[in-house]
Amino acid sequence: MSAYKEETVLSVRHWNGDLFSFTTTRDPSFRFKNGQFAMVGLEAQGRPLVRAYSMASANYDDLLEFFSIKVQNGPLTSRLQHIQPGDRVLVGRKPVGTLVLDNLLPGKRLYLLSTGTGLAPFLSLTRDPETYESFEKVILAHGVRHLSDLAYYERLTETLAEDEYLGGMVREKLVYYPVVTREAYRNSGRISDLIKSGKFFETIGQPPLNREEDRVMLCGSPAMLAELRQMFQELGWVEGNMGEPGEFVIEKAFVER
Ligand SMILES: Cc1cc2nc3c(=O)[nH]c(=O)nc-3n(C[C@H](O)[C@H](O)[C@H](O)COP(=O)(O)OP(=O)(O)OC[C@H]3O[C@@H](n4cnc5c(N)ncnc54)[C@H](O)[C@@H]3O)c2cc1C
Repeated sequence: MSAYKEETVLSVRHWNGDLFSFTTTRDPSFRFKNGQFAMVGLEAQGRPLVRAYSMASANYDDLLEFFSIKVQNGPLTSRLQHIQPGDRVLVGRKPVGTLVLDNLLPGKRLYLLSTGTGLAPFLSLTRDPETYESFEKVILAHGVRHLSDLAYYERLTETLAEDEYLGGMVREKLVYYPVVTREAYRNSGRISDLIKSGKFFETIGQPPLNREEDRVMLCGSPAMLAELRQMFQELGWVEGNMGEPGEFVIEKAFVER
């Protein structure tokens, strides 16, 4: 059996010149935990051209959704950005990843800290009832350069709160904190700086981070991850991974090549 399943593109949404999302059919045998990623891509010259992609859809959805960058000379996304409904994409059969609830110790507040397409696994986790059942507050921060990069803004500020099943929990527990670095906006600056200065917590009306009560998932640029991992390590926080739950977990949103 091939390591990939061919799925059909159902819809494509371009957020701006740098970002797009697409949905595909889903093989019923493709099971994953919210927050995980799989290899996704296209067949090129008879061979799979695939990259890691977080599932942005929830594991109970009938379809799959992905949130993607457009790297103009990127081997995959220079092509993938042109997909249309009806086209075929490859989805790896083995989802993996550390951004799963099981990898965190119990806590009071869950911080989901993302930059760019690092939002993707958190789109999945913020649609998981278990996320809200496990924590009193779920804080989702999305750091981007430009206002138009705030993909899924409407979902995170409106639609999710109106969801028939999740709405009540979302209204009570979800705090969405969009942050922009290169344009004037009500929240501006880098997430790591806003955490370190305390402005982050002032703005969202939550106490400063503390190891006993807070749990953190990080997904973003290598620079953001390196800086925050160092900060958490210096504070003595324990990093979780498969089979060894901790106080924070990390996944790269991409790798510098
Ligand atoms: C665990 C994991 C999960 C990932 N999940 C996603 C996802 O959900 N959505 C997604 O778009 N990408 C994701 N990526 C990145 C993805 O695997 C590819 O790198 C991306 O699709 C570009 O592929 P490419 O072949 O066009 O260019 P590549 O040759 O892969 O990348 C070229 C360069 O583009 C930059 N780059 C690549 N991806 C990104 C990105 N996402 N944001 C900003 N800059 C980037 C980097 O500088 C990289 O060196 C993930 C990567 C990892 C390791």
